[in-house]
Amino acid sequence: MRVCPICDGEIKREEKKVTYRYKEHTRDIVQSGEYCTQCHEGFLSPKDLKISQKSISDFRREIDNLLTTDENGGANSNYFKKLNLNGIARKL
Ligand SMILES: [Zn+2]
Repeated sequence: MRVCPICDGEIKREEKKVTYRYKEHTRDIVQSGEYCTQCHEGFLSPKDLKISQKSISDFRREIDNLLTTDENGGANSNYFKKLNLNGIARKL
């Protein structure tokens, strides 16, 4: 059993849903890591962070694309189609 360095509580490996906000859009991202059962402090390994960072950067890229598609006059058409498949572009 691992012990929390902050409160001596028990640390367990968990997957937590974290709501990430970017430019008034939100998305739930799964952040796996080790969390203290007492104080809920998270201890994330570089690998855990790498996975969630990828979700976050994908999300940001999608939002940036949604927001800039009009200005680019179809320059992102390939990406736009991809978004459509995901059902995200319907919000436009
Ligand atoms: Zn703790």
